[in-house]
Amino acid sequence: QSGANDLQTKADRLVQMSICASLARKFPKATIIGEEELPPEEVSEELIEDGHCEEILKKTCPPQYTGIKEEELVIWVDPLDGTKEYTEGLLDHVTVLIGIAYGGKAIAGVINQPYYNYKAGAEAVLGRTIWGVLGVGAFGFQLTEAPAGKHIIVTTRSHSSTLVNDCISALNPDSVIRVGGAGNKIIQLIEGKASAYVFASPGCKKWDTCAPEAILHAVGGKITDIHGNSFQYNKEVKHMNSAGVLATLRNYDYYASRIPNTVKQSLVP
Ligand code: AMP
Ligand code: MG
Ligand code: MG
Repeated sequence: QSGANDLQTKADRLVQMSICASLARKFPKATIIGEEELPPEEVSEELIEDGHCEEILKKTCPPQYTGIKEEELVIWVDPLDGTKEYTEGLLDHVTVLIGIAYGGKAIAGVINQPYYNYKAGAEAVLGRTIWGVLGVGAFGFQLTEAPAGKHIIVTTRSHSSTLVNDCISALNPDSVIRVGGAGNKIIQLIEGKASAYVFASPGCKKWDTCAPEAILHAVGGKITDIHGNSFQYNKEVKHMNSAGVLATLRNYDYYASRIPNTVKQSLVP
């Protein structure tokens, strides 16, 4: 554990070892960047996943991606997004994020929600995987728009600040949902629970936004920093999203045009 705001559990470490070692074995030339700094060690064979998803292979690869070389891919891995909530037993806030970038852009992503339905009883299927590719679409959930005319903002539960709250107040929302995880908040947008994800603070990193961005963009949504700058995902990029997050499925301009200048001035990209 590296501080109360930046927890790391055994789950974070094991999941990252499993995902990154499995990807590295299958795609040795791709760049793989995981959130956790782990000591170099042999990953045990039982952590290696070598399966694949038939459903994905049935889709047609968009023509602009057929010529991509493995070494041009950067894969951003957040083994456990929403760790703070995980340690508090809010299990459905937790997601596992794998985002794929090419040419600095998020082009594909997976949001796995391992504890989806964990309160729904023994009959319910536990866990789900949402995935998407730009130009193909996003799958594993029912795309739903937020109630028309209502401004429902989803934001951080455990990393609030005066600036975070001032920004939300300035948007004059009908209601505010405070939940953990960047992956979880994008799920709130694509399932119509919230109309905008607003986080006027540094703290969110590239592995938090890459997979969610690909999925949101695949269904026509938009995610940027609080100034409206798009995120870059090339391997040399700074990890921190210093100027916060603004994301919507629809009506991005409504929210972007109402972010106060005082908030923007406090967040340097
Ligand atoms: P949250 O919305 O608070 O769940 O944050 C989304 C993602 O950004 C999670 O991976 C958090 O760990 C990370 N994050 C946001 N703010 C901070 C912060 N102040 N310090 C460390 N991590 C943060
Ligand atoms: Mg995270
Ligand atoms: Mg994490």
